[in-house]
Amino acid sequence: MENGNSYRHILKWGDKREEVISHHMAEVIKEKFGLSDADLKGKHLPGTEPVRLAKPSALKPAQLEHLQGICGNENVLTDDLSRARFSCGKFYGELLDLRLGLVPDPPDAVVAPRTPEEVERIIRFCNAEKIPVVPAGGLSSVTGANRAPFGGIVLDVTKHLNRVLAINRVNKTVTVQAGIYGPALEEELNRLGYSCGHFPQSFEYSTVGGWISARGAGQASTGYGKIEDMVVALKAVTPAGVIETKDYPRTAQGWDLFRLFAGAEGTLGVITEATLHIFNYAPQNTASAAFIFRSFEAAVETMRNIMQSESGKPHLFRISDPDETDIAFRTSGFDGTLADRALQLLGFRTGSRCLMFVAVEGERDYARFVLKKIKGKARKGKGMYIGTSPVRKWLDQRYSSAYMRDPLMDLGIMTDTLETAITWEHLLKVWKAAHDYVARRPKAFLMIHISHVYENGANLYFTFLSPMEKGNEKQDFSAFHRGLVDTILANGGSISHHHGVGRVLAPWMEEHLGRSSMELLRAVKKHLDPYNIMNPGGTLGLI
Ligand SMILES: Cc1cc2nc3c(=O)[nH]c(=O)nc-3n(C[C@H](O)[C@H](O)[C@H](O)COP(=O)(O)OP(=O)(O)OC[C@H]3O[C@@H](n4cnc5c(N)ncnc54)[C@H](O)[C@@H]3O)c2cc1C
Repeated sequence: MENGNSYRHILKWGDKREEVISHHMAEVIKEKFGLSDADLKGKHLPGTEPVRLAKPSALKPAQLEHLQGICGNENVLTDDLSRARFSCGKFYGELLDLRLGLVPDPPDAVVAPRTPEEVERIIRFCNAEKIPVVPAGGLSSVTGANRAPFGGIVLDVTKHLNRVLAINRVNKTVTVQAGIYGPALEEELNRLGYSCGHFPQSFEYSTVGGWISARGAGQASTGYGKIEDMVVALKAVTPAGVIETKDYPRTAQGWDLFRLFAGAEGTLGVITEATLHIFNYAPQNTASAAFIFRSFEAAVETMRNIMQSESGKPHLFRISDPDETDIAFRTSGFDGTLADRALQLLGFRTGSRCLMFVAVEGERDYARFVLKKIKGKARKGKGMYIGTSPVRKWLDQRYSSAYMRDPLMDLGIMTDTLETAITWEHLLKVWKAAHDYVARRPKAFLMIHISHVYENGANLYFTFLSPMEKGNEKQDFSAFHRGLVDTILANGGSISHHHGVGRVLAPWMEEHLGRSSMELLRAVKKHLDPYNIMNPGGTLGLI
């Protein structure tokens, strides 16, 4: 049986519960992948063995003693389980490794500084000794950004550097330590009538430092912006010294230096503090609506019209494409109901219909006004208003679908996500090309949604599912994943909109950004980190 020392324990998401597949979901899985009830009881590559590392810690006793001297023995861990736990994030390829009992890139130690001053001392020491340092937040990266291919230490900022330092009501900002998790930040803000406005699906298990470093986006980003729009100032410890920016609203003092660290993925230094904009917390004012459209094209056209109308925009704004809509209807038990049959008669047919969700926040009259405008535009675009409860239901389960990945792995079904930013003019091209690519693989299945929306474009978010080739899971997954990235880029998409680049997407960086741009990134890195100790080994396409 599985225990807390196993590979499975590490790979499982979030609260590490064993997710049960619902009846409706089981029916969909059986049909899509040709499985029987007996197959659904399978445990492919369970990963239940206790973790054992082949590589012992390579730190010298004097180096370990020095680190212990800085932050205490209890904050320097070298046991196999800790080193394995901090050796990766949540990229599907990494989870497959764990299921196969492999830990290819363990750090030599996990070090948890108690104060920002200890971070400075650790970075100074590691720079002098040329020991690699990988900063770690919640380890929820899905791009292979949290590995230690050259060993060294993982710097766990979540254990101690996890407090709200100040809430400035006059400036409407919060200053936090970078290792604070989403719920702790939001609870403290809610108590005082504010909200952080940043709700990635990984919210419960990711940190402010990780949000900034991977340049993430929350589910209400259309209204509140991406994390880089929320950062006002930050403090980062680099091998070249401490960079601390001030909280001016805007300046013209050369470059905005804090932006260097948004998306730096731990390659330049350790973010220890950040000051962020905050927003009023007034959920009772939220005005929401769900619509159904006869086609993805019609829904996208309406979404663009809303964004370009200059009559206000929603905070949460999503369209599920026909495949995602179909799965949503089937797994919620809506499929085949009287209401479903009525929709079909009205021309909202399975296979082409699309759901759109909208939620506007802010002052009550404002939210109602904007929603009224949106409803008008949706009507004009031939969308039908279907009430508010689909949005409420979606919000209630918005963090839980991530748990499905583990039981699907038990069935030998891979499921992973990719995402891209794309201008409106190329959006449908990428959407179609991705579907064509996935359709070429027998029994593979792709769902796409739009969830972060701008005046000149949006993101596309891809979730693919497919049975894996048994005995060749890693290569099979990598080749399929690579092909989908190639397809997205060939049709005009960006490498990432909000997951970041890590080591997984790094091979596309130079070609996508161009050589001169990459040289600039490398020059900045060389200045701040001359010995390449910060998250070395390929993240962002750096060395
Ligand atoms: C189920 C699931 C759902 C997700 N949904 C979303 C989503 O909706 N939106 C989204 O944007 N992302 C999402 N992600 C991706 C991931 O959660 C984000 O990239 C998140 O911002 C990472 O935060 P973290 O604290 O877990 O950082 P980590 O994974 O620990 O680190 C990510 C990177 O940041 C660096 N880093 C972390 N902390 C610091 C620091 N203090 N200083 C310097 N560098 C640091 C690390 O070295 C690494 O390179 C999802 C991931 C999962 C597994």
